[in-house]
Amino acid sequence: MTHVSIPTTLAQLVVRSRRLGADRSICNWGGGNTSAKANEIDFRGRPALILWVKGSGSDLASVTEDSFTGLYLDDMLPLLERERVSDSEMVDYLAHCFYEPGRPRPSIETLLHGFLPFAHVDHTHADATNYFACAQGGEDLARDCFGDELIWIPYRRPGFGLAREVALAVRAKPHAKLVILAKHGLITWGEADEDCYTSTLATISQARDYVEAHIAHADRSVFGGARVPTLSAGERRTIAAQVAPVVRGLVSTEKRQIVHFEDGDEVLTFASSQDAPQLTTIGAACPDHLVHTKPWPLLVEWTPDQDSEALVASLHAGVAAYVEKYRRYLEANAQQNLDPDAPDPRRGHVHHRQRRGNG
Ligand SMILES: [Zn+2]
Repeated sequence: MTHVSIPTTLAQLVVRSRRLGADRSICNWGGGNTSAKANEIDFRGRPALILWVKGSGSDLASVTEDSFTGLYLDDMLPLLERERVSDSEMVDYLAHCFYEPGRPRPSIETLLHGFLPFAHVDHTHADATNYFACAQGGEDLARDCFGDELIWIPYRRPGFGLAREVALAVRAKPHAKLVILAKHGLITWGEADEDCYTSTLATISQARDYVEAHIAHADRSVFGGARVPTLSAGERRTIAAQVAPVVRGLVSTEKRQIVHFEDGDEVLTFASSQDAPQLTTIGAACPDHLVHTKPWPLLVEWTPDQDSEALVASLHAGVAAYVEKYRRYLEANAQQNLDPDAPDPRRGHVHHRQRRGNG
């Protein structure tokens, strides 16, 4: 006699999450989260409807069952009846809903999943749909692409308010197939694990096809074309080796850092472009970039006809100006309760004090 073991809902969710995470154009490191609602038997031996949702601190590409938090859905849903819940009230409330102890903290986006009346939900930060989410006039373009199946939610910070707004919008429009969160990401769903995965991929490829057909033109020069010539690979490495200790010292004033050198074609195209000086000061094109560059990266001026001493001088001046600018930014936004990070330009991110999850 053979036994065919049926994978649990959580096991299926792990597989789906890893498949989504394997494509970095769907979600970059730590971005996005997935969920499934399942009938489980709780510690009392009683049936319970549980929301399995990716917790804080893991990346979709490498999640395991331990990366997910289980919450009693029936205990979560009364929150939807409230109109205002602060981040700390939400965290306290969710602490009462845990299905099993010892699992990861729920992320700031947990309620987005819990409040939606679908068995399976994917929330991704896909490049193709973020084209709409982050573009000027993006809502009109997204409506042109997706028609009446789209729900567009104007930007608001993740938390209870956003989750409630999405939940009410979805209930008011039962035939909708996707939600685009302005300046943020995408929500897709399905009644079965496979339906959800298929819907997520179909939505993203529809967006990609639209962008390629309507917007991207192969002959258009990217970022305004080249501004400075590119060095050969050998020359790049020589210069990088000369200045790497300087860079490391400059960005390690409060915390020691490891420096990584990246000179792929896309990086070179951007860094050498006409538009880079302007694009690096106007703020991130997409919220995910904040995780990597803070509000802005530091662009250091240097041309290949100069020597490495000139680059060192430019690095010193650039970092000093960046630190000053970042301090002013924190002061100007003090009312937003930002958790001050070391002011150096580097990978790192400003988060709200109560926000610890990846979103
Ligand atoms: Zn998100």
